[in-house]
Amino acid sequence: MNKYQTVLLLGAPGSGKGTQGVTLGKVPGFYHCACGDVFRTLDTRTPLGRSFLEYSSKGQLVPDELTVQLWQLRINQSKETHIFKPDIDRLVLDGIPRNVHQAKLLESVIEVEAVFHLFCKDRAQLVARLKKRALKDNRLDDANEEIIRTRLDTYERETAPLLAHYGPSKVVEVDAMNPPIEVLGNIINALLKNGIVPRLAT
Ligand code: ADP
Repeated sequence: MNKYQTVLLLGAPGSGKGTQGVTLGKVPGFYHCACGDVFRTLDTRTPLGRSFLEYSSKGQLVPDELTVQLWQLRINQSKETHIFKPDIDRLVLDGIPRNVHQAKLLESVIEVEAVFHLFCKDRAQLVARLKKRALKDNRLDDANEEIIRTRLDTYERETAPLLAHYGPSKVVEVDAMNPPIEVLGNIINALLKNGIVPRLAT
């Protein structure tokens, strides 16, 4: 099997990965998949759904094997229904891989072409953004400041090491505190500059 050509959106909770992923996913030739959304569509009465609630409500990551299996299932469904067309679409991943172990589990499936690091040095700004989102999107894990802080710590400890894992040749630094249109502009410019453009359907 050919690996999926992939760009990753990496950043702390509240850095705007989702906003950028959704927007980029609307461009023909890009298919966006947010791992958190995959979890949130689970029926919370199922064992997997319950497991997600148990971890996410504490600001912790769902175990790696479970996460990767579920993600793979969802990608396969998207392929079967032709929402994701791997021969012409680039995969835009947000929220996965979330640590080096997940990156290794996905190595045989995805070919990472670029990693966009949406950085924000101002923790207070991230917390403020998440609190606002809690009200708008009904996200339980955004409502409680202690859980938010745990998620930010989890990001620093588990996810940030991915930057070194992929290395400076793949990582593109993008200031997440700029307005969304500027962040998007920076991402698109870098994609164009690196020749990461959709293949034409034949
Ligand atoms: P955010 O990045 O804003 O925290 P997400 O929607 O990406 O929000 O994730 C919400 C929660 O879903 C996480 O806190 C975690 O519990 C779970 N989750 C999402 N993606 C993963 C993943 N790749 N591995 C493990 N847990 C995940």
